[in-house]
This record gives sequence, structure tokens and C-alpha cells, in this order.
Amino acid sequence: AQTVLWALWSSADLAEGWRRAALAGGAGGARADRDLDAVLALFRAAETFVDRLPQAPARAFLDYLQSQDLPADSLAARAASRDSVAVLTPAGAAGREWDVVVVAGVQDGTWPDLRLRDSLLGSQSLADLLAGRSPDAAGAGAQARAAVLADELRSFAVATSRARGTLLVTAVADADEQPSAFVDLVQRPGDDPADEERDPRLVAAPVPMDLRGLVGALRSQLEGSLAAPGSAGSGPAAPDRGAAQLLARLAAEGVAGADPREWYGLADESSATALWAPDELVPVSPSKAETVSTCALRWALEAAGGTAADGTSQTLGTLVHSIAQDFPAGTEGELLEELDRRWRELGLRDGWPAVAERRRAERMIGRLAEYLKGAGEAVLREAPFSLELDRALLRGVVDRLEDVGEGAVRVVDLKTGKRAPSATETAQNPQLGAYQLAVDGGAFEGLAPGTRSAGAQLVFVGDISKGPTVRAQSGLGPETDSPTWARTMIEGVAVTMASSAFTACLNDLCPMCPVRTSCPLHGEGRQVVE
Ligand code: SF4
Repeated sequence: AQTVLWALWSSADLAEGWRRAALAGGAGGARADRDLDAVLALFRAAETFVDRLPQAPARAFLDYLQSQDLPADSLAARAASRDSVAVLTPAGAAGREWDVVVVAGVQDGTWPDLRLRDSLLGSQSLADLLAGRSPDAAGAGAQARAAVLADELRSFAVATSRARGTLLVTAVADADEQPSAFVDLVQRPGDDPADEERDPRLVAAPVPMDLRGLVGALRSQLEGSLAAPGSAGSGPAAPDRGAAQLLARLAAEGVAGADPREWYGLADESSATALWAPDELVPVSPSKAETVSTCALRWALEAAGGTAADGTSQTLGTLVHSIAQDFPAGTEGELLEELDRRWRELGLRDGWPAVAERRRAERMIGRLAEYLKGAGEAVLREAPFSLELDRALLRGVVDRLEDVGEGAVRVVDLKTGKRAPSATETAQNPQLGAYQLAVDGGAFEGLAPGTRSAGAQLVFVGDISKGPTVRAQSGLGPETDSPTWARTMIEGVAVTMASSAFTACLNDLCPMCPVRTSCPLHGEGRQVVE
């Protein structure tokens, strides 16, 4: 298409005439400018088309052009037109100058944009390493980030040095957005000693001239009047009646956001009823006992559906658990063979993510086999139980109960995650404590009456260390004078679950919490209550 187009253009013999007309100016010059722009855009479109479809015939290019309802965006150079502004990227502005230049939207997180521009597999880092440009892989991330910052600084310098007369740099500072540190490079807040009190660069943005802007301004006016101290300096303040009346009128006309019932954080409680009546047993699962003990709000929101769908990690964990159940004393060969046979159950597509996942699964199986080699005989596997306490109905399924002799068993809970608790944390791990309580309470069918729990352990087969990582908990011991810590903990969990209010408690797992966007202790979730 490009060759045909060039032949047509050359034979038309228009180039020199249009060039002269454009340089001469006036109405004819403006028309020649537009014509030349159109020809450049046409060549640019042909170039892009040929890049995409190198084998397509010239006729296909015509069909492509005719099928367009809107002209495609073109990067072709254009003649400057009068009464207009050029909207450009910093790279597009390089080498040119204007009397007035506006560098807009210099926001924190946008400029500099410090995301690494490398490919998914980091091929540039590998190339740098092999070429000796990067001494080691460990510092490659920091170096790459420093290089990105330097690039961003260069592009900012290009953008801000294009003005012959006036440079205006703009950014927004409000509850959601902050100006970039680059703004300080143009003018620092304390540059003018006369303005120590306030940042002289800040100017109030006018309210947008639309209904949304009007509703926002009226709401802010009304809330401001309510927050101000009353006329006597105390007591409720008088609302701004004018703002309230206007909002009421807008709400009556159906304008979005004008009705206070749509405002976040103002709705009344929908219910203060406890989740379970005082005489009801509260079903407690050992796996959730830890969540309830750590953060009751997270448990409540997750129980109401605020959980993420299972990812590949969870389904792989389920598969490893299932293999461990079917082969309680399996060798590595047997376990790997079973993994191979059932691998398709994960439904992973072919490709490198599936290969990486398969290697991870094989490492897990290797650690599981190593654990099973020295483990006691499994008397029960994936064993369900149910134990009625005062307030709690403790129900669950334990991975494995191993015979340790003398009428006792050891509880084993298999884990495929990558984070193991410390020995101190494990000493009162709620899940293990609940399982031990169930053993001591005779809640397992298939265990002889009077069987005791001699202790419990978490066995991690995920990528934590080379071999399996084991965290042990001592046996609960007899409940002669007072209840064991596990019983007290489970009863406490049941009382918390049966409440009508659930408190958020900051903890180490907050960064991974799936309901963080509804948590009042974090910025992302404060909208729910503020
Ligand atoms: S973010 Fe932390 S405090 Fe908030 S609900 Fe989740 S676990 Fe609880």
C-alpha cells in the first residue's frame, strides 16, 4: 500500500505547489497546510497498516480506510494552526518552543511513574547482567528503579524547558490526590519568605459548572455549617438553610447525590440483632477460630461473602491434601505418580505459569514424602468431628491423627502456604487447640474411648525451607480444676461470633485482608463509615 501510495503521490506532482502555497500564508496557505497534513496522515496510516499486515494488498488498505467511522489517531507531524494549542507528550515537545507552556497534572504516582518498564520476564536485567552492566542480580531492582527515576526527571526537564516566556505547572492537592515532588523543583513552598503561613502555590479550584459540582459545593456548605460551633459557642450548630433547601429541591428533581440518604456514612444501623440467640449453639470451625480471635470484623465480612475466589494456590493446596489423604504412607515415587495422574484437575493451560506451578507442586510433594517417611501411623485421615461445648458447637475435619502409643494420638494439620508461625505463636494456635479439644472430648468416631491428644503439629510443605517445616504444640492435659486454654478460647470465639458488633483489630495479615476496602482502620475502607 505504501509503494502504491507513493507512486500516486509522485505522479500527482502536487508537493512543490502545496509547499509554496503553505509558506505563502493567507487563506490559500491554510488550505495547503490542511491538505499537506491530510497527505501526511494518509502516509502514516499506510505505514501503520503495512506494519500490522505486511502481506495485505493495496486494495485491503482502501477497504480499511473506508471502514473507519472515525479517523484513526495519527502520530504524523502537522503544520501549526492558528488559534489552537498543541497537546503533546514531553517526548513530542522535545526540540520545540512556545511562548506559553502548561505542564498539567504533575501528580504524585503519575509523574514520576516509577513502575519498571522491563518485560515480564526481566530480559533487560538478564542482558545487563550478561553484558557486565549490572554487577549482580540482587541490586538490579534498585538500579532499574533509579534509572526509571532519572528518565522521568529528564522528561520533566524537557517539558518544563519548552517555554520562551511563561511556564505553568499544575497539580491537584485534595483528599485523594497529592502533587508530585517534581512540582517542588519548579517552585518550592518556602521560596517566598512572606508566605510562611500557607503554601503560596495553592489556589482554590472553582466549583465545576455542572450539577455534580453544585451538589458537592452545597453539601460541603451544609456540612461545614453543622460542624461549626453554635452561636453560643456550644451545642448544635444551625444548619445552612439555604444550602439544605437547594439540596432538597435538587433531590426532588432526582439529581444524583443530592439526597442525604445516598451519602456514605450517614445511614442508620440496619440491625443491631445478635447473629445467634442467647440459647442457640454457635457453630465454630477450627480453621475460622484463628480469624475470629485475630480480627472479628474480618471474620464477619468474610462469612457474609467477602472472600476472594480460590486461586491456583488454593486449588493446588487442595490437590496436595487429597493426595496426602489417599497415600498416608506414600513414597515420593507414589506421590509424584499420583500428582502426574491428577494434574489435569487443576485445569491449568499449557505455558510457563503451568510449568512453574508444576515444579512448585513437585517440591511440595517431595517435602510431604520426606515428612511421611518419619511420621507415625495415620489412624484417621480427613476425619470429621463434632463436639458440643457450652456455647460453641465445634465442627471440622482434621487432616491426620497419628498413633503415638499408650492410648494417645498426635494431631497433624498439613499446610501448603508460605508463612509458618513462630514456635511461640504455635503454642496456642487456635486451630490445633480446637482439634486437640475434639480428641480429648471423644468427638471422633473411629477412636477408642478415652483416647487422648499427646500434642499437635503444623506441617508446612510449601516453599519455606528445603525440607518440611514442623511447628509443634503440646498436649492440652487433663481438665481437672479449670478448663484448658483451648476450651476457653473456643468458648470466647463463640461469644464473639454471636455478637451484633464486630471490632476491627490491626494485625500482621492486614495487607492481605480481602475485606480491607470495607475496614474503617484503613484509608481504602474509611469511606464506609465516614
Ligand atoms: S484490614 Fe486488618 S483490621 Fe481491617 S478487617 Fe482486615 S484484618 Fe481486620
